[in-house]
Amino acid sequence: MSPTPITTHNLGFPRIGARRELKQALEAYWRGDTDRQALESTGRELRRRHWQQQGDAGLDLVPTGDFAWYDQVLTLSATLDNLPARHHRAGDPVDLDTLFRVARGSDQAPAAAMKKWFDTNYHYLVPEFRRRQTFALAWRQIIDETAEAVALGHAAKPVILGPLSYLWLGKAEADDFDRLELIPALLVAYQDLLQALADAGAQWVQIDEPILALDLPSDWQRAFERVYHTLKDTPLKILLATYFGPLQDNMHTAVNLPVAGLHIDAVRGPEQILSAVDNLAVHKVLSVGIVDGRNIWRNNLQYSLEQLEVAHRRIGDRLWLAPSCSLLHVPVDLSNEQTLDPTLKSWLAFATQKTGEVVTLGRLLGGVATDADREAFAESRRVAEDRRHHPLTCHQRVRERAGSVTAQDCRRQSPFTQRIGQQQSRLDLPLFPTTTIGSFPQTAEIRRIRRERKQGNIGDTAYTNYMKDCIRDAIQRQETLDLDVLVHGEAERNDMVEYFGEQLEGYAFTAHGWVQSYGSRCVKPPVIYGDVRRPGPMTVEWIRYAQTLTPKPVKGMLTGPVTMLQWAFVRDDQPRHETAMQIALALRDEVGDLEAAGTRIIQIDEPALREGLPLRRADWRSYLDWAVKAFRLASSGVRDATQIHTHMCYSEFNDIIEAVAALDADVVTIETSRSRGELLSAFEAFDYPNQIGPGVYDIHSPAVPSVDGMVAVLERAARKLPADNLWVNPDCGLKTRGWPETEAALQRMVEAATILRERFSPVHLRGHAAGSGHEVEARTG
Ligand code: GLN
Ligand code: ZN
Repeated sequence: MSPTPITTHNLGFPRIGARRELKQALEAYWRGDTDRQALESTGRELRRRHWQQQGDAGLDLVPTGDFAWYDQVLTLSATLDNLPARHHRAGDPVDLDTLFRVARGSDQAPAAAMKKWFDTNYHYLVPEFRRRQTFALAWRQIIDETAEAVALGHAAKPVILGPLSYLWLGKAEADDFDRLELIPALLVAYQDLLQALADAGAQWVQIDEPILALDLPSDWQRAFERVYHTLKDTPLKILLATYFGPLQDNMHTAVNLPVAGLHIDAVRGPEQILSAVDNLAVHKVLSVGIVDGRNIWRNNLQYSLEQLEVAHRRIGDRLWLAPSCSLLHVPVDLSNEQTLDPTLKSWLAFATQKTGEVVTLGRLLGGVATDADREAFAESRRVAEDRRHHPLTCHQRVRERAGSVTAQDCRRQSPFTQRIGQQQSRLDLPLFPTTTIGSFPQTAEIRRIRRERKQGNIGDTAYTNYMKDCIRDAIQRQETLDLDVLVHGEAERNDMVEYFGEQLEGYAFTAHGWVQSYGSRCVKPPVIYGDVRRPGPMTVEWIRYAQTLTPKPVKGMLTGPVTMLQWAFVRDDQPRHETAMQIALALRDEVGDLEAAGTRIIQIDEPALREGLPLRRADWRSYLDWAVKAFRLASSGVRDATQIHTHMCYSEFNDIIEAVAALDADVVTIETSRSRGELLSAFEAFDYPNQIGPGVYDIHSPAVPSVDGMVAVLERAARKLPADNLWVNPDCGLKTRGWPETEAALQRMVEAATILRERFSPVHLRGHAAGSGHEVEARTG
C-alpha cells in the first residue's frame, strides 16, 4: 500500500499543568493573593505550552475548548448564557468571577450541583434548565481560545459538548418537564457558536456526545437525527465524538448522522472498529480511539497496529487516530517522575507520552515512520514482553490463593439473625447505639507531623508517640461525649486508599501523577501494577493501643477492596475482578489479625461501591457479583461474635439495595442527611435485613445540626425499619472538620439518641412494640 499519512489528534489535553500550575493560580486568586491578570496569564501560558507540546509531538489537529477555569461543562453553560439565575441574570455580562460563583457558591446563593462525569473520577457542574428558556451565545472563551491557537500557528479543532449530552447531563429546575423541548432554542445558540468558531479559523469541530455510550430512551435516541440535521449547515466539519464505551444499539444512529466524521472508543469497544467501517458512509472520517485515555499503561503498538490494519486497508486516509477519550483523566507527563522504579516507569505513559504514541501509530500505519517511530515500536514490544513475565507483576502464592477461594470463604459462619445475638451480648450496647465513621479532625499539626515524617525529619519513636497522643485525645473526647462505639481517629492516614496502598505490595505511588477531580482539586491515584500482597499488619498496633485506653469497643477501620481498586489506576493485564480478589485476601488477613488482637467491631469502608457501576445496565449484574464477592471475601473470615460494619457515602440505594444487603455486613452506615426521601423509598421496596446507621447530619458543612433535625431523621427511619436495627452516626468521616463544631455536633447527636431511646424503650424484648405509638417490628429470619 502506498504511504498515506494518517491524521492524528487529541480529544482533549489535561489543563491543570504538569506541576498543577492552574490549581496554584486559582487558589492564589481565590485567596486574594493575586489579581485576575495573573490568573489569566497562567491560563494563557498553560494553553500555549500544551498546544506547543502537542504540535511538536506531531499531532495534525490540536484541541481547543479543553481548557477550563473550573469545568468544561460550566464553560459551555456560560457560553450558552445558561448560568443559574441565582448567580447571573440572562443577558448580563459574564466574567471569571461569575463562573467561580456558580462553581463555588456565594453568601447569597448555593453553588451549582456537582456530579461525577460518567464513570470517571472527574466531576462536572450540573447545568440547570427551565421550561421555555432561551439560549444565546454569551461567554466567548472557547472562540477566543480557538483564535489564540490559530494565531500561534496551530490547526485548532475546538471541542464542545454536544447539545444532547448537554441536556442529558443537566437537571430541570422545579417542574419536571421534558428537556428535549429545549432543543430548538438550544440549537440557535449552538449554530451561532459554530459560526463563531469557524470565523475564529477552525475547520473541524469536535462535538462530544458521550451519552451515545449509555442506554438511551428511544426519544433521546431519535432526537440525534433531528439535532444533527439542524446543525449540518454549519461551515465547520463536524467530528462527532463518542467515548467511555461501545455504541452498541446506538451505533446505527451514530453512523447515520449527517456529520463529517465519527470518533469511537476502541479501547472499551475494540469490536466496534469493524462494524463502524462496515456501516459508515464513504465520505466520512472514522477516528479510532486506540490509546487508552483512562489508564496509564504504555500502549502495545504492535497490538494496536494489528487492530487497525483492516480498517486502514478499507478506508485509507479516512482513518484518523486519537486516544480513546480526552486525556483529562490521566496525569500530564511521566518524565517528571524521578523516583518511580525504572522498570515500572518503562511500562507507563501519561498524557504527553500518549500523544506521542498516537502520532507514532499514525506514521507506522501510514508507512511514513521515522527511525524514532521504529525504535518506539521495538521498545513497546520489548516492554510488553518484559511486563508479561516480570517478577514485579507476579506473586505465585497470591495467585494460588486467589485461585482456590471457595464459596465458603465468602460466607459468614452463621446467618445475621444468629450472629447478632452473640454480638449483642458481647458488646452490650444500648438501643440506638452512637458511633462515628472513623476519622476525626485532621489539624494542621497532624498534617505537618505526617509530612515531616515522610521527609524523614521525624524518627519512628517520636512519630509513634505523637500519633498515640492523637489517639488518646480522640478516645478521651469520645468518652466525654459518651459515644458508645469509639474510633481511633485515623490521624495516621492522609488518604484512605493511599494509607493501605503504601503498605501493600503491588501498589505504586507517583510523585506528580495528579488528575483533576473538580475545579482546583486534584487526586493522585495509586498504580496497581502487580499481584497484591500484604507483607504484614497495617492497622493493628494503632487499634490495639486505642483499645487499651477504654473499656468501650473501638472499631478497627479498613478501606474495602472495591474502593481500593476503584480509586486507583488498575493493571490491565488481568481482569479487574481478579485484582479485587487479591486485595480482598490481603484485607481478610488484616481483619483476621484485628480480630485476634481482640477487636470486637471491624469497619470496612466501601464509598466507591456505587461509582463502580458500569455505564450499561446489562453489565451491572456481573460487576455487582464480583464486587459483593470481594467484600465478603475480605469480611467473612471472622467469628459470629465479631461485628462487621461497612460505610458508604451516598444514599441512592434504590437500584443496588439488594447488592448492599448481599454484602451481609452486620451494620451499614450511610449518607442520609442530604437526601432523606431517597433512603426511605429504597427501604419501602426492600426489607433491609441487617442493621443500619442512617447518617443523621451532614459533615460537609461546619454548621452544628439541631437535635430536632437529627431526631426527625431517626424517627423517619424508625417508621420503616425496626428500631433495634438502627444506629446513630454522622453521614461520613470528620477529618475535614474542626474540633469545636465536631464536638458540638456529636454532643447533640448523643442527645438525639437519648431522646429516641426514651421514646422507644423499654425494648429489652426484641420485637416488642413500645413508646409513642411507634411499632418496633419483630424480626424473624
Ligand atoms: N473511615 C473513613 C473516614 O472516616 C471513611 C471516609 C469515606 O467514607 N470517604 O474518613
Ligand atoms: Zn463517607
